[in-house]
Amino acid sequence: VRVLVLHYDPLVPSMGGVPLHEALGFDDPARLTLGYIQDLEAATSGRVQHTIVEWRDLDEFPVKIDGFRYTVSEYIANWQSGSGWHSPDTMDYVAELEAKGVPAMINADEIDEVWFFGAPYFGYWEAAMAGPGAFFINGGVYPQIQTSRPFAIMGFNYERGVAEMLHSLGHRAENHLARVFGGWNLVDPVTDWDHFSANVGQSNGTPGVGNIHYPANGHHDYEYGNPTPVLSTALDWALYPDLTGATTMISAASWTGSENLHRGYMKFWFELLPHAPGLHPVHGRANDWYAYIYDWLRYDGDGQPVYGHPQSYCETLPNSTGFPSTISWMGSGSLTANDLVLVAELCPPDKSGLFFLGDLQGQLPFGDGIRCVFGSLARLPVLTTDGAGVATYAVDNGALPGGMAVTLGTELYFQFWFRDGMGPGGSGFNTSDGLHVTFGP
Ligand SMILES: [Zn+2]
Repeated sequence: VRVLVLHYDPLVPSMGGVPLHEALGFDDPARLTLGYIQDLEAATSGRVQHTIVEWRDLDEFPVKIDGFRYTVSEYIANWQSGSGWHSPDTMDYVAELEAKGVPAMINADEIDEVWFFGAPYFGYWEAAMAGPGAFFINGGVYPQIQTSRPFAIMGFNYERGVAEMLHSLGHRAENHLARVFGGWNLVDPVTDWDHFSANVGQSNGTPGVGNIHYPANGHHDYEYGNPTPVLSTALDWALYPDLTGATTMISAASWTGSENLHRGYMKFWFELLPHAPGLHPVHGRANDWYAYIYDWLRYDGDGQPVYGHPQSYCETLPNSTGFPSTISWMGSGSLTANDLVLVAELCPPDKSGLFFLGDLQGQLPFGDGIRCVFGSLARLPVLTTDGAGVATYAVDNGALPGGMAVTLGTELYFQFWFRDGMGPGGSGFNTSDGLHVTFGP
């Protein structure tokens, strides 16, 4: 996840020009950022990694929706008296994002999301979304921002701690998951997400891990320190999607050992939030729920993959090995990732062959096999199958043969052709089945 940090931290002339966070004894934003990034990386075994592409120190207050902007002396006076805060409080997201050149950075594919760092009453949402198709993730929605894709915006507060940063991301996660699981039924859990977030305070049946406000054993909001254990499926979620239904006793003792119990529980929650590869065998959603938080464009509103997940099709006939050759893939059809690798297996060993592609599918006899690819055709370089009868080829989306170009939504069909002099049909060659790839973000 590539991040632009917009760090609003005005300098305070009356205190020797130190930044606001220092003047008022708040936490160090750099320390908070490091804690947040490290907690998420550790919780997901490295699956979620953030890179700060740019950290911009801003000697200014953000502008509010009515055009108001605090001065330093005004803000400090309000903080000391605990009064005088401006209403409306909300920041003008459209104005700030545009003034800081964010749409251009999104369109140039330099960043994935934006973090606003600031102090109380800066008017940030915990999590907002901007761009065409933006939806609610626990804050403002700004579809009028002109970008090539929607993007998330976190609002962090250096008056608070790492726990509160993870808490904000947790609410964002809750909204993403309720969206793709078709709602959120905490009282009578039905879906995997319902069961994951179930707890004694809000749910019938066995508690799961809990949600951001209610741990498994929570009876009230924010009850992260309750020492009373409950029988819960929490630890079983580490095995998702292969849940066993096993239960263990869970209490605040399950997440001690961190800066505070709030941060400890957030880490516990993010560790158990499913992040296995692949799609669920029953309902077809991603086993990696982080995909919905960070990669939602690749899934529809029901959490089903829309792009970048190739599918095999057509038929294949036995070759001289006695088996029919198959085509599969590694990586994806993601234009951003550009990581599609074609894999042909069960071919005869040490034979030359090649992957070819076209823009139409079909099915006709072809040599000893079946041709599955039609339309405008192109060939990838000649390969030799290895001793196990496997051939692979890493596709470069930007350098396809025959002048073929892929863009968002382009559909292509791939197939492997190989020599097989000892083949059962006597034609001297055979083919795998076909692979259908829809290219997406
Ligand atoms: Zn909350």
